[in-house]
Amino acid sequence: MHQLKAKILKQFNSKRISTILTQAGKNPELQNGFVNPPIQRGSTILFDKAQDLYDESLKSYGLEGSSTHDNLCDALNKIMGANGTILCPSGLSAITTSLLAFAKSGDHILVSDSAYGPTRRFCDTILKSFGIEIDYYPPRIGKDISQYIKQNTKIIMLESPGSLSLEIQDVPAIVHVAKQHNILTMIDDTWSAGIFFKPLLIGVDISIQALTKYQSGHSDVLLGSVSCVSTKIYKILVDTHKNLGLGTSAEDAWLCLRGLRTMAIRLKHQDMVARELANWLLEREEIEQIIHPALSNNIDYEIWSRDFTGAGALFSIILKPQYREKTIDMLNAYKIFSMGFSWGGYESLVINCNPQLRRNYLSPEFKNPLIRYSIGLEDIEDLKEDFIRGFEALK
Ligand SMILES: *Cc1c(COP(=O)(O)O)cnc(C)c1O
Repeated sequence: MHQLKAKILKQFNSKRISTILTQAGKNPELQNGFVNPPIQRGSTILFDKAQDLYDESLKSYGLEGSSTHDNLCDALNKIMGANGTILCPSGLSAITTSLLAFAKSGDHILVSDSAYGPTRRFCDTILKSFGIEIDYYPPRIGKDISQYIKQNTKIIMLESPGSLSLEIQDVPAIVHVAKQHNILTMIDDTWSAGIFFKPLLIGVDISIQALTKYQSGHSDVLLGSVSCVSTKIYKILVDTHKNLGLGTSAEDAWLCLRGLRTMAIRLKHQDMVARELANWLLEREEIEQIIHPALSNNIDYEIWSRDFTGAGALFSIILKPQYREKTIDMLNAYKIFSMGFSWGGYESLVINCNPQLRRNYLSPEFKNPLIRYSIGLEDIEDLKEDFIRGFEALK
């Protein structure tokens, strides 16, 4: 598999990812020589000839996106090895659009038990109300996903690592089973930014990004994307996107494209600092467990190192049970870590997770306080001091 990973990465693009991120989605020759594309706003598109008004091969309205959106989609296609990408107003709408495009009344869909909370909420409310059956599968199920498949199973919705609890899935094994049963696979790949993992290249049909996170990178944009290889799937996504009327702003697409230019270096730095902090925290007696897939003692380390090339900004810790009452004091003591939902920006963030952990299958240690950190671009020594400030507040 290691060899396969190397082969896939080599085949898919002649250039390495940092170079792709600086070059993709720009055409100076079409931009009066300027390095960056313009922000093209607009609703109405004008036609010269009446016979073109209903020509389906031409863009006819702003909801189909301007050249700015096309630039971003080009770049995302190159990063992910896709043939088509649609943009949605948020990561969540990228997920819901993908599910709405393919799940029909009477279908059964399998969703990872570790899925992003709002994905689960959408499945349990809107999809259920449409007569779609949902089952959640344990994220570490691997090839035994076959036990969950029914006659009417249409989609497997993966997310690896899972939100908050960060379980890594054996995606190649699940995809293998899905293909045997003719089931569509989709993955929320936000954690890897489409950089550390290449779901489309190992056969996942649809790869979803919350571009709000690493790609935009500055906590000032909400945007999502759905990418695929198959032109048939792309056509269904485009039609659904059109029917739902999902416009996105050209400024947001432009800001996201701007974010891509520095993403490789941000990710590399955040990955390095997050790993160093996670290792440093191993010695703290207040901590029961550190959940970071790239730590060699992590339960998923083997699969992570087989399938991923990096780890990024996120990790979680589980505090020992005696600190349950004091967890809030620890969070309130931080001066560098801000408290807030979302992650992947330039600023370090922290949240306690237990109130939003809704799972059917969760190992018992998650009854203890689960804290998630997103490491930003601050100096590591200041972050260490902040951790210590937090631990002092547990006393
Ligand atoms: C944040 C997040 C989303 C949703 O993105 P928004 O743009 O905030 O809607 C989806 N999936 C995961 C894993 C996320 O962390």
